[in-house]
Parts: sequence; C-alpha cells; structure tokens
Amino acid sequence: MKPQVAFFDFACCEGCQLQIANLEEDIVGLVNVVDVVEFREVLTGTAEKYDVSFIEGSITRPEDEERLKDIRKRSKLLVAYGSCATSGGVNKLKNLNPSLENVQKTVYGKDWNMPHLRTAATKAVDEVVKVDAYIPGCPVNRKEVVEVVKSLVLGHVPALPEYPVCVECKFRENVCLFQKGQVCLGLVTRAGCNAICPSNNSPCEGCRGVMPNPNKNAMHEVLKENNLTVKQIFDMFTMFSADPEVKG
Ligand code: SF4
Ligand code: SF4
Ligand code: SF4
Repeated sequence: MKPQVAFFDFACCEGCQLQIANLEEDIVGLVNVVDVVEFREVLTGTAEKYDVSFIEGSITRPEDEERLKDIRKRSKLLVAYGSCATSGGVNKLKNLNPSLENVQKTVYGKDWNMPHLRTAATKAVDEVVKVDAYIPGCPVNRKEVVEVVKSLVLGHVPALPEYPVCVECKFRENVCLFQKGQVCLGLVTRAGCNAICPSNNSPCEGCRGVMPNPNKNAMHEVLKENNLTVKQIFDMFTMFSADPEVKG
C-alpha cells in the first residue's frame, strides 16, 4: 500500500498548494509513490490517518491551533511548506505592530470586531506542533516538494541546501545585482530556488529564510563596500519573517 499523503491550508494565499496542483509532468512521479488522500483545492475526499501531512499557512486563530493539533495527532510525519508555515511569512508582519486591535481596525475598518474576523498573534507551524521537515519559499519550489516527498517515502529526513542563493546565482552566470546598485539578500538566504529572482534582475528578498552559518566575513565585506550594516540586512528579512531564524 502506498503512503497516504494529505495537504492542509491555514492562513495563506494558497500559492504553495497551487504550485503542487500545477506540478504538470512531475505529478506522475508523485502519484506513482504516494496516494494523495486529502487536498481541498484538488480533491473532495478525506481520510482519518495520514503518513505525511503537508501544512501550508500560518496559525492566526485559537481554533486553527486546535485543528492543527488534531492533524498532528493523526499524522505520522508533518511537513511545514511555504514561508507562511515555516516562519509565519508575510502574515507575521502584523506581530510587529504592538496593538492587534489596530491591525484589525486597519484591515477590516468598522467591522473589525465581528466574531468571524477574530484573530491572534501569528505563529509558524512549529510554534504550535512538532514539525518533521521544512520546505521554505514563497511560494515553494515544486521540484523541491517532489524531492521531499520521495525522501520521506524512503524513510529519510530531506536535507535542505546549506549554502546561499549566491552559489546558484553564480552557476547561472548572473552579474551580481550589487554591481548594478541593488541590494540583494541572496548573500545570506538559503538556496534551493535556483536563484530565480536575481536571474530575472530582481533582488532576492529572503523568502527561503536565513541560511545556517552564513559566511560573515564575506557578508561584512560586501556590506562595507555598499555602505550597509548587518542590522539593515536582517531588517529586510522581516518581509517573510518577523523573527528570522534558521529552520530545517
Ligand atoms: S508562502 Fe507565499 S505563496 Fe505560499 S501560501 Fe504563503 S504567501 Fe502564499
Ligand atoms: S545578485 Fe544576489 S544572489 Fe546573485 S550573487 Fe549577487 S548577492 Fe548573490
Ligand atoms: S531568490 Fe530569494 S526571494 Fe527569490 S525565490 Fe529565491 S530565496 Fe526567494
């Protein structure tokens, strides 16, 4: 019997599950090794137990915490996929505002206090339940998702790249955006997206999070050359996480 895999979403834009729904030729490789038993955007079925559950989105309401804990209980392995799930993502920006009430009033105006618009401080998935594997990115790289599924099915914890986006950028023979007067976070961001943004002339904004053990000397050199501080660089990471840290 093939492992049973399910996909769930919480507070998010659903862009990550769209990446999976659009796997195209890779979908054949995926359905050859697993049974997808629950996936709201694609299927109507449900199941009681799961070998691997994929969680998209951040946790922003008490009832979502309960739902997530229930999924965890029924799952052998749980994977947080996409920046919203791995770090809180753009949803976590609201935690930087000291008043949740202000946030609600800004977003919902006069209706801010209606019961169905209730909200709480945003949490990443691992702030609520144990996470067995992470797939960073906003959105996730669909090929990476397939590789992670295959690794889990074979009983391995998938290894994420432990080098910066700059490595992939150099392999693609791009001219560094710093040389064009732009500020790029590829220096300290975990690789795995094939440097898609700088390859399209757009600076890396750090959606895959900070890489483990960044080369501080090289970073300081680039920052110095460009009149930037470490704080400025790490502040830029708040786009995808209010408290950037290494995950996975
Ligand atoms: S990580 Fe990005 S693409 Fe994925 S659900 Fe969150 S906002 Fe959407
Ligand atoms: S453009 Fe960005 S990712 Fe590419 S080499 Fe420069 S700093 Fe690194
Ligand atoms: S280049 Fe940076 S911002 Fe763009 S997808 Fe990769 S990690 Fe995310």
